[in-house]
Amino acid sequence: MHRYSWAPIARLRAEPGLQRVLLRSARPLVFMTSSDGGRPRILRLISRKTVFLPLLLSLLIQLAMSSCSPRQPATQSFHSMGTMASVTVAAGYRERLPQSAEVVRAVFRRIESELSTYQRDSEISRLAEAAGRSPLKLSAETYRVLELSKEYGELTLGAFDVTVAPLVRLWGFGGQARHNTPAPELIQERLRLVDFRKIELSEGTGFLPAGMSVDLGGIGKGYAVDLAYEALRRSGFGAAMVDLGGNIRVLGRAEPEENWMIGVRNPFDKEQVLGKISLIDGMAVATSGNYERFVEMSGRRYSHIIDPRTGYPVEGMAGVTVISLNATIADALSTGFFVLGRDPSRDVLRKLPGTEVLFIPDRDPVEIWLTPGMVRLFSPLPEFASSVRNL
Ligand code: FAD
Ligand code: MG
Repeated sequence: MHRYSWAPIARLRAEPGLQRVLLRSARPLVFMTSSDGGRPRILRLISRKTVFLPLLLSLLIQLAMSSCSPRQPATQSFHSMGTMASVTVAAGYRERLPQSAEVVRAVFRRIESELSTYQRDSEISRLAEAAGRSPLKLSAETYRVLELSKEYGELTLGAFDVTVAPLVRLWGFGGQARHNTPAPELIQERLRLVDFRKIELSEGTGFLPAGMSVDLGGIGKGYAVDLAYEALRRSGFGAAMVDLGGNIRVLGRAEPEENWMIGVRNPFDKEQVLGKISLIDGMAVATSGNYERFVEMSGRRYSHIIDPRTGYPVEGMAGVTVISLNATIADALSTGFFVLGRDPSRDVLRKLPGTEVLFIPDRDPVEIWLTPGMVRLFSPLPEFASSVRNL
């Protein structure tokens, strides 16, 4: 499994040449700041030679200016749910950064203990253990995310289906590795255990038919980000960005006259950013891709996103980035649209005002397909302007 490492992108505005100075990150979406707030992470990365020497000097000067400038956002990162998480606060909240990080970590720890399939005593693991036997009393949060999972299963015509868990495991994710592709008859057998409509929710309890289990990897991080966003708002934070493995939601603005800005990575070259997206208060963004989590069998790569209609990992799509009104729906839709594909997703999008999408098909040269609203939000880097297509 890939471990994420991340760092914000340096200023893209001041010196265009800096656009090459991309700090290592294995995550599809990265926070871009006008400079690197907080500890000089750029220095640490210079030793990894990801920075062209000619730019080194201007970076150091900029760093010297920015790190002592109290005007810059500040970031604190930590590990959570198998990926990197971070909280970035606007300059006016710098002193309260440790408090904001603690608020968010507490939410993520609680959600992980309820929803993780990697923790045997989580509610979701115990729900699978009780499958076919008896309903399980669930916490309000677990109950709610299962309700939303069923809702988004219907919305995406079954492309987003959290009962895909037996197939996710069969293809070697979240447990025992595999060396060869599963036999077709085994896939068909597991496919009979996949149908989100069979999740029974009633008066605070959940029940699964025998053999079924759920995997909230496609919605749980977005759900945790929304809860953290609300907790920060209640704690009086007016300008912050919460990021959990590329599931991002923003509160207020990065600086008085500047929105939060994130970069969309090139799935075919992780050192590159295709362009940037400006996010306004309350907006959320999520990306699903085939280049971070995959398994290799018989010399081929298989994505961690499974088509619940066939039982096979999705092919043909490299990345889908969704902007929406909250992080939970953005997370589920990025997975669902990744399965549905570009054109079939349009029918679903018609029912979702306020949701915009960027599709990157898995073919060379890179194509960046944008919904009408995403055309206004996404600014391609000059070298990718000709790759943009309108949906
Ligand atoms: P997304 O597209 O958002 O989600 C893809 C994930 O959703 C797949 O990995 C699979 O889990 C699931 N999925 C696949 N196909 C479908 C489908 N058609 N419909 C619905 N869901 C589908 N990872 C670790 O390595 N270690 C951990 O300890 C760990 N703990 C976690 C705890 C929690 C509570 C959560 C929510 C996730 C955790 N993860 C962990 C990560 C998880 O296993 C997923 O790989 C990750 O969430 C994928 O997110 P994504 O944004 O990359 O892709
Ligand atoms: Mg998702």
